Amino acid sequence: MKIHEKLDQWLDEVLPEVFSEDREPTLMEMSELLTRTRQKFLGEWLGVFIEEKYGELLDQEYAPCPACGRRWKKRLDSGKELVTMQGSAKIRRPWFYCIDCSLGYSPLDEVLEVSRKKHQFDIQKKSVKLAAEVTFNRGGELFEELTGQPLSDHCIHETFEAVGSDARIEEVLPSREDVVKRIEEARVGVWRPILVVASDGAHLPTRPKTGRKGRRGPGQWQEAKGFRIYLLGPDEIIHVASWHQIQKEEDFGKDLALAASRIPTEEVRIALLGDGAEWLWKHMRAYFPEGREILDYYHCAEHIYKVAKAQYGEGTMEALQWAESTISRLFFAEVKEVIAGLRRMNPRTKEAQEEIRKLIGYLQNNREKIHYRSDRKGGYPIGSGGIESANKFISHTRLKRSGAWWVKENGNAMLRIRCAIYNGTYDRIFDRYKSSQLNQNQVRSLKNG
Ligand SMILES: [Zn+2]
Repeated sequence: MKIHEKLDQWLDEVLPEVFSEDREPTLMEMSELLTRTRQKFLGEWLGVFIEEKYGELLDQEYAPCPACGRRWKKRLDSGKELVTMQGSAKIRRPWFYCIDCSLGYSPLDEVLEVSRKKHQFDIQKKSVKLAAEVTFNRGGELFEELTGQPLSDHCIHETFEAVGSDARIEEVLPSREDVVKRIEEARVGVWRPILVVASDGAHLPTRPKTGRKGRRGPGQWQEAKGFRIYLLGPDEIIHVASWHQIQKEEDFGKDLALAASRIPTEEVRIALLGDGAEWLWKHMRAYFPEGREILDYYHCAEHIYKVAKAQYGEGTMEALQWAESTISRLFFAEVKEVIAGLRRMNPRTKEAQEEIRKLIGYLQNNREKIHYRSDRKGGYPIGSGGIESANKFISHTRLKRSGAWWVKENGNAMLRIRCAIYNGTYDRIFDRYKSSQLNQNQVRSLKNG
């Protein structure tokens, strides 16, 4: 087999570097030698695999049109470079053209699932995952450093946008079967496990699409609305689903409804967590009517500290004492008493007066959701450390840290991909992208004729 020849060639190249009398390579040097040379040889191996495995398709003189089935004679042998994780392989395969359908096709490409791009799907899949973590620039550099395969940031960016725009919430969220499995993991004894639905918003830097003259409009902070669903397992939190998008409230509601439809609610006890924002409670209540509503303890405490600071000065003993006693009264659900106390307060400044007024309103609006002590007793969480860290992880780490202002569509593509990775559904969104690319190959040939 030709493959042995290729192996011999590789060995001929590397063995002298290792075994020459005057050399004493270290482990690292030997490993780097293999990294340096494998791209060339393993790439060629793939070429040989294709020749030996699919020889018939390479010699094919007639092939049926994939659209109408009519058989056509080969037009030409067409060359293509296929770059994979293993390196580059050059193939020449017969190319056919159906006049009736104006469709160019190659049976070999179909069997191999060849991407139209030079860089094939295995590279595309890994590079997009990399770019979900670091900037496109840095992604390109790291990719080359780790694989020995150069890859431009433009290339990564283009694939990233295509994968992201094909990704849909239906695939990003785990299936109902997956959710059921995770609920089983969380079950201890006869108790139904607690499932937490935590919603919130995070402001992200966005900008309009670049206009025709290449001028950018002014940037704007927009709210990514999202939720995280997780189970309180025997020892730790079991993640179920994350979903965040820069979007309108109604769309957040639709997305939450879809997530709710994948949860067997009779198998769990549901806790709803959020800050005071009315939009999130409206939808959580609608889709999880059986849920126990809990005002996020940490958000609530933040509001208290604001008043303490305005009234008694930042970091003073008075401020600390007042805040702590107020928070512990809320812990025991003494909301009425706290509100009465606020009313009796004598504001020291205009600012303090305003903060006190706001806090009274906040507590009045949310008093039904303040019952931290009984939450604790029932094993419910009182704060969404969960959503806070998930939101930071999903939205902030990549979208804020890079310092870029995002076009809404691209920011949302990034969020979908990051949620999919976090939810364990990245394979599914990539497969969807791959099939749509393979379908487009045909459509494109049809159009271009
Ligand atoms: Zn045809």
